[in-house]
Amino acid sequence: MKAIGIDIGGGSVKFAAVDAAGRVLKRFAMPTDTAQSADAFAAGLAAAVNALKADFGGKNIALGIGLPGDTDPQKGMLRWAPNIPWHNFKIKTALEAATGCRCFVSNDANMAAWGVYAEELKYKYQNLIVMTIGTGIGCGIIIGGRLYNGATGSAGEPGHAKIDFGPRAPLCGCGGRGCLEAYCGAAGIRRAALAAARKNPQSALAGLIKKEGFSAEIISAAAQAGDKTALALWRDIGLRLGRGLANMILLLNPQAVVLAGGVSRGSKYFEGAVREVFASQSVRTPFESVKLLISRRQDIGAAGAALYAAAAADEK
Ligand SMILES: [Zn+2]
Repeated sequence: MKAIGIDIGGGSVKFAAVDAAGRVLKRFAMPTDTAQSADAFAAGLAAAVNALKADFGGKNIALGIGLPGDTDPQKGMLRWAPNIPWHNFKIKTALEAATGCRCFVSNDANMAAWGVYAEELKYKYQNLIVMTIGTGIGCGIIIGGRLYNGATGSAGEPGHAKIDFGPRAPLCGCGGRGCLEAYCGAAGIRRAALAAARKNPQSALAGLIKKEGFSAEIISAAAQAGDKTALALWRDIGLRLGRGLANMILLLNPQAVVLAGGVSRGSKYFEGAVREVFASQSVRTPFESVKLLISRRQDIGAAGAALYAAAAADEK
């Protein structure tokens, strides 16, 4: 089935149209205007979808939407999102009425995971975890070739699983302490890098931060130059990420774990530490069989939403 996917972010909305063979025919983006009402925003999306539909020959097109927050896939509703002001936004009902397309909704990390599963990996692994590590940590779980949404659409939040219960564990954006995201998300990495630079003022990392300001690329650049402080920082991130992933692997026994998102671009420097944690596990079989992969695609969310909608519509 032909499908249109929409990936809604706090800054921009991305669209992708896929044909019945799953090929992406068209992509475009527009800014997210959070100053307007939810109804006006939905009307803007519907106009873009209707224009794409006309290009596409009209009928029988499924619509998939990835939402950046707490999503109810059954009701097709965004309950709440950190970067978007519309609460309990019934986007499925609004877009089905305005476009005539059957609409399928999930959170953006789930749609990105479906994109990795369907487009990047061509359905090779039916049991798969895709963890997107950027500002936050998002995760999509595919079990037996189906997206696992959980009872309330809240499955796949390992970013807020606790990996440190100490009283001084760092604060997470969620308000809790010691979450995986507080160590391995972009803000946690920044905090650790600045602390490491203060402690090691002679390091290449400290020099680069002083000269250029902090960015994740700087830690990689310093590590590439052999800087021990930067290498130790990446190793620490890898060990913590490995522990978080190990718990998920023990729970779900996936065939593969895929890391995506900005932080995964430093994988060269932290992958070894993740594998070290896997090798140290006493329950060996799931860790000997699991593939650790790095996604090479950026912006797979819209295509993933389209492919998910096509699959879901074919099923029903
Ligand atoms: Zn948290």
